[in-house]
Amino acid sequence: MDRNLNELIRVIPDFPKPGIVFKDITPLIADGDAFIECCNQIAKFAQDCDYVAGIEARGFIFASAVCAIAGKGFIPIRKSGKLPGQTISKSYDLEYGQATLEIHSGLIDAGKRVLVVDDVLATGGTAVAAAQLLKQAGLVPTAVVFLLEIAQLGGRSQIARALPGLQTHTILAE
Ligand code: AMP
Repeated sequence: MDRNLNELIRVIPDFPKPGIVFKDITPLIADGDAFIECCNQIAKFAQDCDYVAGIEARGFIFASAVCAIAGKGFIPIRKSGKLPGQTISKSYDLEYGQATLEIHSGLIDAGKRVLVVDDVLATGGTAVAAAQLLKQAGLVPTAVVFLLEIAQLGGRSQIARALPGLQTHTILAE
């Protein structure tokens, strides 16, 4: 594709709080060619995994499409109180507030390899919590892939510090 897909990311200042520069992916996912191009690129990282985990909510959009492209099962990493079975939870700090993520325990066989997908890498706290939850559930995170990264927030180095050896990839250059 010869277009710059970054032009389909809308930048909205002061959302959801003053001082946050929000990267809105909705123009990109509304463009069918751009959406499939991004999902195809993410799917290249799914070759050596058994499952793809998406982080609620925008990670679900990309991760489930990647599952369909790569022929992998989907694991939802959800906000607290949404999963009906037995769960493992982790609370962490966000660029704008605090959050808790959960994963079902005992559903997927221990040792299975899981690619983690989300839309935006900001401080990295969400991705670290997601990968740690997978590990606590006995699974093996293979890499984390984002559509885009806000590099000045240092998320890539936070992931490297918390989970040495876990590769971080982004699809769109800044
Ligand atoms: P973080 O844990 O700081 O890396 O935040 C990542 C999560 O929060 C992702 O699930 C993003 O969807 C969302 N997020 C954080 N900051 C932004 C931002 N500036 N624009 C869009 N999404 C963001």
